[in-house]
Amino acid sequence: DFVLSLVTPLAPLSYELVDALGCVAAERVLAREAVPGFANSSMDGFALRSVDSEAAPVRLRVVGTTLAGSAPAAVLAPGEAQRIMTGAPMPPGADCVCMIEEVTVDDDGLFVEISRIVAAGENVRLPGEDVMLGDELLRVGEVLRPPRLGVLASQGLSSVLVHPRPRVGVVSTGNELTDAASALGPGQIRDTNRPLLKAMLRESGFEAVDLGVAIDDEAATKTLLAAGASSCDAVISTGGVSVGDVDHVKSAILQLAGERARWMQVAIKPGKPFAFGVSAEGTPLFGLPGNPVSTRVSFELFVRPALRRLAGHDELDRVHFRAVLDAAIPRKDDGKLHVLHAQVALGVDQRLHVVRVVREGSHLLRGIADANALVLLPERAPLEEGCEVDVVVLDVEQLRAHAT
Ligand code: AMP
Ligand code: MG
Repeated sequence: DFVLSLVTPLAPLSYELVDALGCVAAERVLAREAVPGFANSSMDGFALRSVDSEAAPVRLRVVGTTLAGSAPAAVLAPGEAQRIMTGAPMPPGADCVCMIEEVTVDDDGLFVEISRIVAAGENVRLPGEDVMLGDELLRVGEVLRPPRLGVLASQGLSSVLVHPRPRVGVVSTGNELTDAASALGPGQIRDTNRPLLKAMLRESGFEAVDLGVAIDDEAATKTLLAAGASSCDAVISTGGVSVGDVDHVKSAILQLAGERARWMQVAIKPGKPFAFGVSAEGTPLFGLPGNPVSTRVSFELFVRPALRRLAGHDELDRVHFRAVLDAAIPRKDDGKLHVLHAQVALGVDQRLHVVRVVREGSHLLRGIADANALVLLPERAPLEEGCEVDVVVLDVEQLRAHAT
C-alpha cells in the first residue's frame, strides 16, 4: 500500500495503433466516420428491386457488374438486376440482393431468373449499422486489445493516446555474479535474475532496460541505481537488500529516495526483505531479494501491481481462483503468508486442481520452471487433501497440459 500510494500513471503519449497493444487508453474516441459508410452488399449475387421479385419466378435484365471498391452504379430501373460482389455499393434504386447460389443466369449472361421473393433489405448492409457518427469507440482507462485496435483502424485512425509502456531498468548486485560468456571462477555463479526479470517484464507488457551488474560496493550500487532512476520509468534491483555485511541496496535506495523510502521485512515466504523508494525524479526503485525464486515471487506480488499502476491500469492484481488440493500440503505456522509454485490443472470436473507443489527453497529455481501457478497459503489455512486454496494462474495455456 505504501508502494502503490507513491506510484502514479505515466503521462500519456501517442502510440501507433499496433504498438498500443496492451496499453491503457488515455483518451476517449468518438466516431468521426460511419461504418459502413454506404449501403453495400453482404453477398456475391444480384442487386434488384424487391417489388420486382413479388411475381417470382421472374426474369430480370442484367445491367452490368459492381465490384467492391467501385463507385455506385447508375440507378437500377424496374425489371433490371445488377451483378454485385460482397462489399460493393448498392446501385441506387435496388433494395435487396439475391445470392448467386440461388439464381439461374442465361448462357449469354443477359438475363437472370429469380425464383423466390427477395425481401427488401435482404443481404444489404446499411450505413452506420456498425458505427454511427458520434458513437463512443474507446473509453479512457480501457486496455487496448486487437479488436479495439481494429475498430479504431476502421475509423481511419493510425495512432492513439495511451499511458506509455513503462521502461524498467534491471540491476543485479553481487561480486559473485558472472555472465554466460565467462568461465566460472571460485565462488562465482551465473547472473540468473537479470534474464529472469527481463523476461517477466516483457511477458507482462513492460519494456526492460538492462542496467548491468553492481559490485558489492555502496557507491557503485548507488551510482547504478541513480543512473537507472534518471533514464528509466522504474528500476528493479536484486540482491543486497537483506541484513548481510555487503547488502548496500537498502542504503542506496534510502539515500536516493530519502523520506519516500521504506525497507521492509514482509511476513511472506519467500521474499521477506524488500526495499522501495521513489527517487528525486519520481522514479520508483524496487530492491528485491537475490534468490531467484524470491525475485520471482516479490516481482509478482509487489512490483508487477505497481508497474501496472504506472502503465495506467485500474486492475493491478492477477485474478485469484480457488483450487482443490489433490494432496495435503505441510506447512509450519510461522505467521507468514507462504507462496508456493505449483502445477494447477483444469480437472474433468471443470474445477481447478493443485496437482503438484514444487519443493520449497528460494534457491531452487529449476523446479518452478515446471509450475504454472502460485498457491497462496495464509497462516492456519486448512491444507488437507480436498481443501480449497487461493491460486494465481500465471500460465493459462498450461492448465490443459496436465488435466486429469
Ligand atoms: P543477497 O541478498 O545479495 O545476499 O543474495 C541472496 C542469494 O541470492 C545469494 O546466494 C546470491 O548469490 C543469490 N543471488 C543474488 N543475485 C543473484 C542473481 N542475479 N542471480 C542468481 N543468484 C543471485
Ligand atoms: Mg549479494
